[in-house]
Amino acid sequence: MSIRKNQLEANKLQKRLRRNVGQAVADYNMIESGDRIMVCLSGGKDSYAMLDILMNLQKNAPIDFELIAVNLDQKQPGFPEAVLPAYLDGLDIEYHILEKDTYSIVTSKIPEGKTYCSLCSRLRRGTLYGFAEQIGATKVALGHHRDDIVETLFLNMFFQGKLKAMPPKLLSDDKKNILIRPLAYCRETDLIALAELKQFPIIPCNLCGSQDGLQRNVVKSMLIGWEREFPGRIDSIFGAIKNISPSQLADVSLFDFTGLQLDRGTLSDSATLEVETHIRALNLS
Ligand code: SF4
Repeated sequence: MSIRKNQLEANKLQKRLRRNVGQAVADYNMIESGDRIMVCLSGGKDSYAMLDILMNLQKNAPIDFELIAVNLDQKQPGFPEAVLPAYLDGLDIEYHILEKDTYSIVTSKIPEGKTYCSLCSRLRRGTLYGFAEQIGATKVALGHHRDDIVETLFLNMFFQGKLKAMPPKLLSDDKKNILIRPLAYCRETDLIALAELKQFPIIPCNLCGSQDGLQRNVVKSMLIGWEREFPGRIDSIFGAIKNISPSQLADVSLFDFTGLQLDRGTLSDSATLEVETHIRALNLS
């Protein structure tokens, strides 16, 4: 590809991602004037992209809000602790690197051969949400994207018997934090392309030797296969998450199936006319 064509593609990619984030922010009222947003930075491609796009939005938005980048060093062996500070020093942003050895807790509690990820992420969330309260953050931004949300939908259906995914905005169970997912409308392929374009210094998550539940990888491959065969299918599934008809499902807590009542009232004008026309036709024949 020529340099000019590359440049055009790169511009289109960035515009598309910024538009996706702007739309999600607007649809869910994710950012309000005066917000102090703690941006969770793991060192993975998604959180780098989120910070990059939010910083751009901050420059161009008609409202004022603050961004604070926060990374948790979980003490996995080989964690390159200099990488994120070096990256963040180059940006004009307040940042904090927290240190908590969740790695030792996880490895001591989870039997060998089992994946650590679910306990690890629970401990990480606890520390980060506590810190958000401490620094007076009004929102906590997480880097989950559209494909993460769709994968979670299928994982919950397949293994939990639940129709639930990950919402773009959520009040934490203890009501002490509002979580936002500004990348909710972004495709993972776009985020991969942005990471390449911007050469983000990515830190792999699986330094601990664990790997995210194999089942997530299976669901991911299933979705990639579907998308290859039927382009647009992931968008369509994501659209379904935003367009729910409780009366066409079977959850009695969401729709009052037991209380269904007939309401025929009187025959409507058009129905009366139809009946009269029918009778007249019979009389004529
Ligand atoms: S792979 Fe990532 S999420 Fe899973 S246990 Fe290791 S550090 Fe935690």
